[in-house]
Amino acid sequence: MHNSEPIWDHVEARRKAYEDLSDRIWSMPELAYTEFRSSAEHTAMLKEEGFAVTEGPAGIPTAVMGEAGSGGPIIAFLGEYDALPGLSQEANVAEPKPLPGNGFGHGCGHNMLGSAALLAATAMKNYLKETGQPGTVRYYGCPAEEGGAAKAFMVRAGIFDDVDAAITWHPASLTRVDEALSLANTRIDFTFTGRASHAAAAPHLGRSALDAVELMNVGVNYMREHMPSSARIHYAMIDGGGIAPNVVQGRAKVRYAVRALDIHGMKALNERVIKIAKGAAMMTETEVEIKILSAVSNLLGNTPMEETMFANMQRLGPVAFDEADRAFAAEIQATLSEEDIASDYNRCGVEPKTDQPLCDFIVPLDQVGEPMIGSTDVGDVSWKVPTVQARVATHAIGTPGHSWQITAQGKAGPAYKGLTWAAKVMAGTAVDLLKDPALLEQAKADHQARLAKKPYLCPIPPEVDPPLQPRPAGV
Ligand SMILES: [Zn+2]
Repeated sequence: MHNSEPIWDHVEARRKAYEDLSDRIWSMPELAYTEFRSSAEHTAMLKEEGFAVTEGPAGIPTAVMGEAGSGGPIIAFLGEYDALPGLSQEANVAEPKPLPGNGFGHGCGHNMLGSAALLAATAMKNYLKETGQPGTVRYYGCPAEEGGAAKAFMVRAGIFDDVDAAITWHPASLTRVDEALSLANTRIDFTFTGRASHAAAAPHLGRSALDAVELMNVGVNYMREHMPSSARIHYAMIDGGGIAPNVVQGRAKVRYAVRALDIHGMKALNERVIKIAKGAAMMTETEVEIKILSAVSNLLGNTPMEETMFANMQRLGPVAFDEADRAFAAEIQATLSEEDIASDYNRCGVEPKTDQPLCDFIVPLDQVGEPMIGSTDVGDVSWKVPTVQARVATHAIGTPGHSWQITAQGKAGPAYKGLTWAAKVMAGTAVDLLKDPALLEQAKADHQARLAKKPYLCPIPPEVDPPLQPRPAGV
């Protein structure tokens, strides 16, 4: 019998309660920093399981932390539970059908993410209790992954300082160990202030803030040719200065997302974008106010932990889907293009198949694909603590991230099976680290070697606080 089997029994014993938790979170979608009900659900679960609970750690009301066990290494499981706007969708139907209400939906699967991480933590707590081994398990309920960078603020507050290793996962199409590629990302607001005037009778008296925004965007678009091809820049007009073309726009605002391969590259690129904004203000005789809203770091890999997680995946075997799961996934695939489906395979370097609605394999650890890279605030934890992340199949191959199709599949068979499977992989990895001090030392040495090349720079300026939101009425 291998180490993993007793811990997997502990996962199985509690799986139903966590499928139910995932369903409840799915049914109460809340946006970044307003997850008051979702975090209360996680808090109640932690208390019911007997964890010592810290509510609102790092000064973030919708964060929660639970701890159990004593002595030994501190192993952390990271969970999330925030939803997205515009992705409301009925469950288990393969056509767009928003539910009545605010339009929010779990279009990134964070209902499963938090539930599986908490299930892994619970299994490890019960394992520690049963075996009497020294060891401490923590669950971090992390809000606002979607654009809120909560984990970066939590790292900055020091609440990960004593953690020995961190483990997490994300719902996905293909099952694999995350290749630890994500982009560092900053969100910056540029607010231009000029002078309003009658656009026909007194244009010479006006100074257009909208002109400044447009010139800034043109400047940045010219810069694209001269920045690293791995970097990404996007913008959204938050305020175009009003709806009247006959008024010179006295105020306008554009929000930028600047992404680069690592924190250091991102800082350099931010400075160039800021220079362009100042140039646009100078050209238009307007003023610009520059405000960094949030920022996250790129992910740092950890080879010993990745190998350990992969070994757990192999011992467990691929997620075992059934015919009903495949039938619904095939219906979802019918709403996707061939390109959608092929790109999921290409991303992982796997030959595309047309007759495979769900992932019935594990992508090899060393498989090289064409990663399409986003950003995650897990990045900041990974610079502070040796961190590993699983990607586990919970939805049809080809399902785009942040889509109604993900919301539709959030309460289906594959979601439940993937959730439990992810908890087993995470808990199994944790037990291996606990039982093998040499492995944990290797993970730490790997982490230190990466930091020695480039140190961690907190990407959030010290004066920037998390963009906390008020508790909605009636919640
Ligand atoms: Zn996500």
